[in-house]
Amino acid sequence: MKSEYRVPVAALLRDPGSSQQVDLEVRAPSGIGDSFYGVREGSPVRVQATLSSLRSGIEAKGKISALEEGKCSRCLKDIKKPVEVEFSAFMPPQKDMEEDSPMSYQIDEDGIYPLRGDFADFEGLIRDELTLQLSMIRLCRPDCRGLCPVCGEDLNESWPHSHEKGPDPRFAKLSELRDRMTK
Ligand SMILES: [Zn+2]
Ligand SMILES: [Zn+2]
Repeated sequence: MKSEYRVPVAALLRDPGSSQQVDLEVRAPSGIGDSFYGVREGSPVRVQATLSSLRSGIEAKGKISALEEGKCSRCLKDIKKPVEVEFSAFMPPQKDMEEDSPMSYQIDEDGIYPLRGDFADFEGLIRDELTLQLSMIRLCRPDCRGLCPVCGEDLNESWPHSHEKGPDPRFAKLSELRDRMTK
């Protein structure tokens, strides 16, 4: 089974102590974030790593670069920003882990990603590392003013902004109704 996330490591495995550079340009796997914010499936991801052959398996250290996309949590404007994650993972050989074993078999705890036959597989690692690093603060800019709670206008574009002159005419009907109900 061919996969763009896989790197052949047979030569490396035969030679403990040696290392190999990896520079992978792939499409982001699905499942990183949600429909509101995340790394979009198919967007470009780059993995640059050094694979070192140890007696017990392969150690992978490097970084993943990708693009986070979503909506600003205050003003709902689109955000797109680069992210870079450093990682360190261990890839032990697995006797029953053949090249085409189902993905669900993957162990993704503690940075352990079993080899698939003679291949290192970066799909689960990319998904896990990027998911962990997704920004918690999702703003188009650190001082985003958000939307006006009264009229919904973008306060970044309409500032200063006030309603002291009376409510927006679009809301006149509403306040009329409110007045009538409170009488
Ligand atoms: Zn914003
Ligand atoms: Zn307003």
